[in-house]
Amino acid sequence: MSVASHLRADNVNVWFGSRHVLKDVNLEFPSNQVTALIGPSGCGKSTFIRTLNRMHELIPSAGFAGRVMLDGDDIYEPGTDPVNVRLKIGMVFQKPNPFPTMSIKENVLSGLKLSGRSIEKGGGELVEESLRRASMWNEVKDRLGEPAISLSGGQQQRLCIARSLAMMPEVLLMDEPCSALDPGSTRRIEETILELKESMTIVIVTHNMQQAQRIADQTAFFLAEDGEPGHVVEFGATDKIFHGPIDERTNAYVNGHF
Ligand code: ADP
Ligand code: MG
Repeated sequence: MSVASHLRADNVNVWFGSRHVLKDVNLEFPSNQVTALIGPSGCGKSTFIRTLNRMHELIPSAGFAGRVMLDGDDIYEPGTDPVNVRLKIGMVFQKPNPFPTMSIKENVLSGLKLSGRSIEKGGGELVEESLRRASMWNEVKDRLGEPAISLSGGQQQRLCIARSLAMMPEVLLMDEPCSALDPGSTRRIEETILELKESMTIVIVTHNMQQAQRIADQTAFFLAEDGEPGHVVEFGATDKIFHGPIDERTNAYVNGHF
């Protein structure tokens, strides 16, 4: 079982070329908590969540300033290998992206293989544990050799979660993981997230206000106003953000006014 870690973003700033898109983001992600990132499209949520495991570095024009501390270590410290960072801090995206023709089992092990990690005893136990933690073992245990494409969209997304879990991450980042899914699949993933938080730290971007209230312990509201870079307007306990926000803009957003 992986160990939950405490993650903290200190003064995170991001530019694309000369355009400043995120300004001075300071957020804390305590162990065993789910944090929701909410805000209108284009306010920098995806960009920010990518900085939490250095994935924005895959975009050549991206510039970064700030620190991200994982249990006291800056993941941007010179000499730190971003591949190792991404083993500890996994990511799941909006659109399920398993390798379509690869088998279910091979998909679970694929992240580990790509990162060059050795896999013990053929990986059978790890595949089972990862699929169990992603709440889909019983559905697929008799069809591990079938291609991922044979699964439904919701199952494909849980397979992507299992692929991340196989790396035993301490933190799981999820960028709108349910946006492409039906309500039933969404519910199952929410249940999975609530089980996973017992053993890890979770950050999730969502446009679904009910979802944030169902699963998130704390919520951060991002906004990019009039061409200004995106920033955090308000951050706190989810109940407070939705039922007693301090900022009028938070109140307007959570009540569907923009
Ligand atoms: P959100 O996820 O909140 O919708 P994004 O993080 O995707 O917002 O985008 C934040 C801003 O950065 C937007 O103005 C977007 O157009 C810009 N942006 C995102 N990705 C890139 C990129 N690869 N190159 C240039 N600009 C980008
Ligand atoms: Mg986004």
